[in-house]
Amino acid sequence: MRMKNLLVPTLREVPAEAEITSHKLMLRAAYIRKLAAGIYSYLPLGLKTLKKVENIVREEMDRAGANELLMAALLPAEAYQASGRWEVFGPSMFKMKDRYGRDFCLGPTHEELFTQTVIDEVRSYKEYPMTLYQIQTKYRDEGRPRFGLMRGREFIMKDAYSFDLDEAGLDISYKKMYDAYCRIFERLGLDFTIVDADSGAMGGSGSQEFMVKSPVGEDGIAYCDACGYAANYEKAACIPQDADFEDGDLALEKILTPNAHTIEELVEFLGTKPHVFAKTIIYKADDKYIAAMVRGDREVNEVKLKNLVGCTDDLELAAPSVVRELTNAQVGFAGPIGLSIPVYVDLEVEKMRNFVVGANETDYHYKNVNIHRDFEPTVVSDIRIITDGDACPVCGKPIKTAQGIEVGHIFKLGTKYSDALGLTYLDETGVSKTVVMGCYGIGVTRCLAAAIEQGNDDNGIILPVSIAPYEAIVIPVNAKDEAQMKLAEEIYESLKAKGIDTLIDDREERAGVKFKDADLIGIPLRIVVGKKAADGIVEYKLRKDEAPSEMTVNDAVESAEKYIKENR
Ligand code: ATP
Ligand code: MG
Repeated sequence: MRMKNLLVPTLREVPAEAEITSHKLMLRAAYIRKLAAGIYSYLPLGLKTLKKVENIVREEMDRAGANELLMAALLPAEAYQASGRWEVFGPSMFKMKDRYGRDFCLGPTHEELFTQTVIDEVRSYKEYPMTLYQIQTKYRDEGRPRFGLMRGREFIMKDAYSFDLDEAGLDISYKKMYDAYCRIFERLGLDFTIVDADSGAMGGSGSQEFMVKSPVGEDGIAYCDACGYAANYEKAACIPQDADFEDGDLALEKILTPNAHTIEELVEFLGTKPHVFAKTIIYKADDKYIAAMVRGDREVNEVKLKNLVGCTDDLELAAPSVVRELTNAQVGFAGPIGLSIPVYVDLEVEKMRNFVVGANETDYHYKNVNIHRDFEPTVVSDIRIITDGDACPVCGKPIKTAQGIEVGHIFKLGTKYSDALGLTYLDETGVSKTVVMGCYGIGVTRCLAAAIEQGNDDNGIILPVSIAPYEAIVIPVNAKDEAQMKLAEEIYESLKAKGIDTLIDDREERAGVKFKDADLIGIPLRIVVGKKAADGIVEYKLRKDEAPSEMTVNDAVESAEKYIKENR
């Protein structure tokens, strides 16, 4: 491709709308342009690299024996109404009516549609196991679309669904996808970690996420270097830790703590440590209220709590007016003693002795509280978020935490959708059984953002050969110099003849501009044809290396071919 013919309007300035590196660089390198919050157009370079990502995903899905198909994105409501997700998705689903008033949505994910397809099209148990997939644009009206392609409202996903006769079959299909995912993320050059993930209150027997560690990731990961354990925060099991408390069975005491609404204020006021407090937080769980208690220096894990309570909607903090009504006090003085709603208590609170809680009375707390003596919890369970230094639930060594970008998710669904929609088969003895399903997603557009988040420097994008928009670029320093242009064209033609996806910067721009652009857009290999063209000497440089080296044209072309083919 010739730069002259390519639409590549790079930007020198950092666009104000972008907060994170990958987003800034994708705008600057003219990969994408914003249309509205979370909605982007892909310019030629962005589209080209995206297609390469898609192709890697496609090749590995095909290798794993999955069938590609393509569903509509504009979907009638019925299947989602049957599964209950028409409501569950809430405002995240783009819903609309057609001219006859019938309900439609833009597909956020396609479990229902794939299940229905198998109901309609598969005729015999002999056709299982089967895995179907598509690479398609998805629509979710995200609450916080941000970070460019990282969290879009329109984004490209590869979604696959497996259909098996039984759980043992699902285990095999799941493992095939797991292996395919590892190959995909390796080929994309991503440094990833596989973590155990939450599989929700109702669905499924197993779930893992593929995470790229990054400070801009929106998911928390807990991992252990000692034994290799890794889990999503939402899932990571917490081992109750000991702490020093005052010994003995001290008498319960109500104390005046004026204006101490927060743990920090209380710590200050009482001159003690946060772990001596147990905080009580009141949540709305569907249409009822519950209280959750964790140690003062811990946070409630709302996903664990939601699963435990078994509610449909996500938990919400109770409104201040409700807290006032339930506790007869200002916000900040809730406690378990005398509270009329169910109290869910974290395991660690059972290890606490003589601790402090709110007294359900403005400006008062209780001290020397002891569980089972002063109040009886409704449920005691692991409901907190794991933190740095917590004990690894497998080997007990200290846990580390990091932020991660979720690039893929594999999930054993079991019979959730086959039950809801009626996907059954008759086995060889004529007995009706339910098909067992798995689902497997990859955020194709998010993968590209993650690759750039991971691969960049001050000069721009550094992508691996496998997904860079072009594999090599030839730059004649002076496009008006005939000898340089001629040699550059020859190199360009011979690289293309070797099957290398090559760009030539034939624009009449200053050399500095061309070098800057080549670095910014992330082309892995650059051959510069300059003053030594007449002697057949050119400059060869890998994007990831600092310094170029001079070599003969032949050597440069050969090295390029070797490097590209080895790194595809
Ligand atoms: P998240 O927790 O990040 O919202 P999710 O759990 O809702 O993701 P899934 O429904 O499992 O995501 O979707 C499969 C994959 O699609 C995810 O692993 C992620 O890579 C990608 N994905 C999900 N939502 C978005 C989005 N808004 N923008 C870009 N990619 C997304
Ligand atoms: Mg997920």
